[in-house]
Amino acid sequence: MQPQQKFGRTFSFEFFPPNTPEGAGNLAQTAKQLAQLNPKFFSVTYGAGGSTRERTLRAVLDLRAAGYAAAPHISCIGSSRESLREILQQYKDNGIRHLVALRGDLPSGTAAAGEFHYANELVAFIRTEFGDHFMIEVAAYPEYHPQARSAQDDLINFKRKVEAGANSAITQYFFSADCYYHFVDECEAMGVDIPIVPGIMPIGRFSQLARFSDACGAEIPRWLRKKLEGYGDDTDSIRAFGLDVVTRLCDDLLQSGAPGLHFYTLNQAGLTTTIWQRLGL
Ligand code: FAD
Repeated sequence: MQPQQKFGRTFSFEFFPPNTPEGAGNLAQTAKQLAQLNPKFFSVTYGAGGSTRERTLRAVLDLRAAGYAAAPHISCIGSSRESLREILQQYKDNGIRHLVALRGDLPSGTAAAGEFHYANELVAFIRTEFGDHFMIEVAAYPEYHPQARSAQDDLINFKRKVEAGANSAITQYFFSADCYYHFVDECEAMGVDIPIVPGIMPIGRFSQLARFSDACGAEIPRWLRKKLEGYGDDTDSIRAFGLDVVTRLCDDLLQSGAPGLHFYTLNQAGLTTTIWQRLGL
């Protein structure tokens, strides 16, 4: 775990691209509040198969126009080389130098069309076409990706992305710090030498968290699930308990040398800001 300490700390906040004027207004407010915490960058997600292409770019440009560093995500599944080249060129023409590069997921029932199958191919494509112009972040899975054939396979596949030219990684969220420590140790043993920044999901609503976790394979430990379920509709108690749990997790990670934190904000500033303040960052 300690080798990650040498990278210093990077703090970042993730948004999704709004699809209404009210959503855009809310995001501008949220970004303004979170900017006071002085993160290294904001990132903006990208919908499956390029479905939010224009909105992701718009949101990133709006954040940059407001004076903040912002990185778009880009996913490759279901897209052609030509369309990806076009988007990347658009990012470059707009002065963007930082990306989160992903495979993405197609909606269930859709065939995996397109010229790219895995994120390592996207990273290699970006390096071939655009050299070192972009700093590239990739995804990592301390609890392993739900479609991985085995834990070892997933590690090897993660390493492929690093060898293809990724500079840094952000993890899927998790609630047990041990899986992160173990993952980092395994990466270290395989010679992976990039920062692996924990992704942090503040707990706001249990039903929403359970839905996300089912979809992405992030485990809610039994004790946590039981406790959150027990609060029923009592949102205040869920938030209060969630803040305690997630703050403790973040504290543990940072004390153990994690190279920063990436918060999945869901375009809300409140929970992230409270965790931040409690951590004394
Ligand atoms: P990959 O690294 O390609 O891995 C996917 C699966 O394929 C794994 O099981 C892996 O073991 C296997 N695999 C990888 N390479 C190979 C290979 N060469 N041969 C055989 N098997 C292989 N989704 C979005 O749609 N938009 C977003 O903006 C977005 N942002 C995200 C941000 C973060 C920080 C994270 C953690 C996830 C994000 N996701 C996003 C979700 C992500 O797209 C999904 O988790 C997706 O299922 C996998 O993407 P990946 O880039 O990790 O894929």
